[in-house]
Amino acid sequence: MRTTRDAPAQNRLETNVRRLVGGNWFPSATGPMFDVRNPVDGAALASVPDSGADAALAAVGAAEQALATWRGTAPRERTVVLMRCFELMHEHHEDLARLISLENGKALSDSRGEVTYAAEFFRWYAEEAVRIEGRTLVSPSGDNTIEVHYEPIGVALLVTPWNFPAAMATRKLAPALAAGCTAVLKPAGLTPLTAYAIADLMRRAGVPDGAINVVTTQSTDRVVGAMLADARIRKLSFTGSTSVGKLLLHKAADAVVNCSMELGGNAPFIVFEDADIHAALDGLMVAKMRNGGQACTAANRVYVHRSIALEFAELLAKRMGALRMGDPLEERTECGPLINVDAADKVEALVDHALAHGARALTGGRRDDPASAFYPPTVLVDLDPESLLLSEEIFGPVAPVLAFDDEAEVVAAANNTNYGLVAYVYTADLRRGKRIAARLESGMVALNRGMVSDAAAPFGGVKESGLGREGGHDGILQFLEAKYLAVSSG
Ligand code: NAD
Repeated sequence: MRTTRDAPAQNRLETNVRRLVGGNWFPSATGPMFDVRNPVDGAALASVPDSGADAALAAVGAAEQALATWRGTAPRERTVVLMRCFELMHEHHEDLARLISLENGKALSDSRGEVTYAAEFFRWYAEEAVRIEGRTLVSPSGDNTIEVHYEPIGVALLVTPWNFPAAMATRKLAPALAAGCTAVLKPAGLTPLTAYAIADLMRRAGVPDGAINVVTTQSTDRVVGAMLADARIRKLSFTGSTSVGKLLLHKAADAVVNCSMELGGNAPFIVFEDADIHAALDGLMVAKMRNGGQACTAANRVYVHRSIALEFAELLAKRMGALRMGDPLEERTECGPLINVDAADKVEALVDHALAHGARALTGGRRDDPASAFYPPTVLVDLDPESLLLSEEIFGPVAPVLAFDDEAEVVAAANNTNYGLVAYVYTADLRRGKRIAARLESGMVALNRGMVSDAAAPFGGVKESGLGREGGHDGILQFLEAKYLAVSSG
């Protein structure tokens, strides 16, 4: 990070920012630490432990020990604890939202939305803990019955990204605990404070010592690798980039660890000529600008029917250009900084590449201060199809708008990517919407909506966007293993 200065001591957070292993907060002074920085100006907010493999394996040991008890708790008991986690997140809603804005840089309104969404996973899985069903059938020969029971898979390693520091953690922690698993959470080094705060609330809610452990490290490759190689880890649930996901899949293969992967996206946002333009604009502002464009679900390519494309792009530019950028903790701010200067550099490089290949910026397109993490909301038209930002995740407030002529053309363009997380379709014709949805290679389709996230829904992607689903009933299945009993009828 280029702009780096330390915050005055009185502004540093005095949270429980220590390693949580086996129910003990290890004091800050016991080993190397690293700073967590405010994306606004690079100022240090707090220091967290830079754990090595030994500390991580101690956390795995604590989780293994706690598993023996937690997996045997009555489902209703797990419900009560998880419901208390939900309540505590709401009791501390504003503090959590401010903490997210502070370390992640997203506007306070986005952070508030994230806390509500994150808490919802505790409520949903509190309700799911008592609905783990098995099944029984008579074998085709009639000689025995086939009983299928679902058991907790074991100790889970949960690795999460920085872009939704609360929701990506609870989307894993809640189903893991509901299923009877215990866990080691390895949050992103850029935003670990929210994870520590949530872990603290979970302990207060009654999650027993060792059932959840938090390990922060800057040596991610070595430390996560050491945990994955440990036979006590039976599950990897990862959310992050496709490139790191592939790396971890290779490592997990060596120990045959069950994997759920929530990876990158390159969402198409398709607007047909019969769509309600203003509703589509509203939806796009959410799909593009939630978290300043730093979402796996962010609309990455906007396809608009040629008959309305220019009008749509101009209206979009007006709305994007009017967004207020600023300090995320100020109420009036609608768009904060990106996570750091490197991230803004990447967005700038993608936009510059598009501009050099003939694109026009209707708004934005130029960063005022090259040493800052702020990048202005940008709308691009006249794009060369080879522009890098059409094939890569932009992960910033940039909307490239492309015109299309017919259904076949737009479906082919939308599917022309290795990703397949989410797609958005706006049309007044529901039959057309469902027809297009069926042809899109995507784990999720939003029809006349700008958002799919819902704790009750199976979230996830196809192709290189992932394996498995989080949320809904599918989410708890990721932490359960079927056990089959062949019971003699005689
Ligand atoms: P990232 O892949 O860099 O990091 C994700 C996590 O993996 C972090 O905890 C990081 O510390 C850890 N990590 C990084 N390198 C590692 C390595 N070599 N070995 C072990 N662990 C390693 O992703 P990010 O930049 O934190 O997050 C942004 C990415 O996450 C985007 O691609 C976005 O689309 C994706 N994402 C996907 C979803 C989804 O649900 N599909 C949700 C949010 C974010």
